[in-house]
Amino acid sequence: MLDESKIQAAVRLFLEGIGEDAQREGLRETPERVARMCRELFAGMGQSAEPHLRKTFSTENSGLVVEKNIRFYSLCEHHLMPFWGHAHIAYLPDGKVAGLSKLARTVEVYARRPQIQENLCWQIMNAMMETLRPRGVMVVIEAEHMCMSMRGIKKDSSKTITTALGGCFEDDYALQSMALKSLLTE
Ligand code: ZN
Repeated sequence: MLDESKIQAAVRLFLEGIGEDAQREGLRETPERVARMCRELFAGMGQSAEPHLRKTFSTENSGLVVEKNIRFYSLCEHHLMPFWGHAHIAYLPDGKVAGLSKLARTVEVYARRPQIQENLCWQIMNAMMETLRPRGVMVVIEAEHMCMSMRGIKKDSSKTITTALGGCFEDDYALQSMALKSLLTE
């Protein structure tokens, strides 16, 4: 459960820690603002994508379904700095498909929490495998990490790409490369 008073106290202490005057005009209300913002940034905590992925439609079509360029923003759990980019999802239905907006909602549930890109990718794939139960899922995420661009090796605009494979995608290389082609071309 998110505790706004703890976040406020922590932000005040943090500002003092970096040598700031937490009482000066521009910073006076920062702890409250950050605490309020956290409600949105961490809205996925304690949530599951199950309710979204339960809304399905039946289909005879067993062909590849691809949802590309799902924009997301998340926070890296190692530095609490933003990472953001696009998630791409491909799956082979087994009698039912999910509402297209529900795939974006699934991404939001797992992005809005302290996260690492590798786990974000896996959690989306796993939620789809467990609830939607398709024949297979492939999730690809392309993201830029502020903790790479702004600090450390300062590799501006370098992209991190992760993939997660479930079901029939796991050992079918032809299927993987076919899906990758439609996921990664503009
Ligand atoms: Zn980081």
